Amino acid sequence: MTLGGRSGQTKTDSYSPTMPQKPQKSAQTSHYIELGGYQYWPVLVPRGIRLYTYEQIPIYLRENPYITDGYRAYLPSRLCIKSLFILSNETVNIWSHVLGFLLFFFVGVYNMASVLPAIGASKEDYVIYSIGLFCFQLCMLCSVGYHLFCCHRSEKTSRRWMALDYAGVSIGILGCYVPGVFYTFYCNNYWRQVYLVTVLAMILAVFFAQIHPHYLSKQWKQLRLLIFCLVAGYGLIPTVHWICITGGFSSELVQAFVPRVLGMYFIASLALIFYVSKVPERYFPGQLNYLGSSHQVWHLLLVLMFYWWHQSSCFIMSYRHSQPCLDTSQHA
Ligand SMILES: [Zn+2]
Repeated sequence: MTLGGRSGQTKTDSYSPTMPQKPQKSAQTSHYIELGGYQYWPVLVPRGIRLYTYEQIPIYLRENPYITDGYRAYLPSRLCIKSLFILSNETVNIWSHVLGFLLFFFVGVYNMASVLPAIGASKEDYVIYSIGLFCFQLCMLCSVGYHLFCCHRSEKTSRRWMALDYAGVSIGILGCYVPGVFYTFYCNNYWRQVYLVTVLAMILAVFFAQIHPHYLSKQWKQLRLLIFCLVAGYGLIPTVHWICITGGFSSELVQAFVPRVLGMYFIASLALIFYVSKVPERYFPGQLNYLGSSHQVWHLLLVLMFYWWHQSSCFIMSYRHSQPCLDTSQHA
């Protein structure tokens, strides 16, 4: 598989301070772009976008040395948006979350129109349900924004989108916590409020830290990861508490719901392992530039995790409607 070198580029009018422009070969090749080994894939390339190797991109875009080629860089906003329709190493990252956004949007519309009325959902249910799905959609959009605009010629703009991408993950986690805490502690108003308030405070604190540009520095990498794990792992505290006050593992609801919680943590851990380890491209440097890289797996697992948790929230919501609380203060 050839890497780096490419010919038959389309006409380049993007700002490229480091790379000289290559002449156009011929009119015939202008609709084709040679991408590493994926030669002559017929890709409709909007004029003005070219791809770079890892060594050619600015330092702030160098995140993953195992992705050796297919980078967009030095683009103004207009061409960043246009690049949605070209094949680059961000194409799968962008479209996976565009489709993720559409999935949660249409699931929301469908469930609001048919599933929620069927289980006799109250206004409160609609609000909680909407908050969850809205957070997932926002998370998807922040991610799309970052992967679309990270190649912006201004480092500041690129960094801002990156900050928003991080903040989007917090919003997504909030979307998991709100329905989770609300319906597990459905019959215990005190603890429901305690956990909702603490979760909200924690997520808000992390959210504001994340939108701060210093948060994104390389020195903070370990700390960022630790904060992310703490925010996600915090959910185990209300889970264990809930198991205890619901009657332990002999409870039918605990037996039904705990595997769903563990399933979510399993998917989240798997996603994080891919994200951190940069596997599999670490073992196949340059061969997974366009398809099959760890960040793409992380994106897909994120969509899967949110969908899994959404289904779990729907399960416990309908359980709460079929089995009303016995005592509003004592039973969880
Ligand atoms: Zn991403």
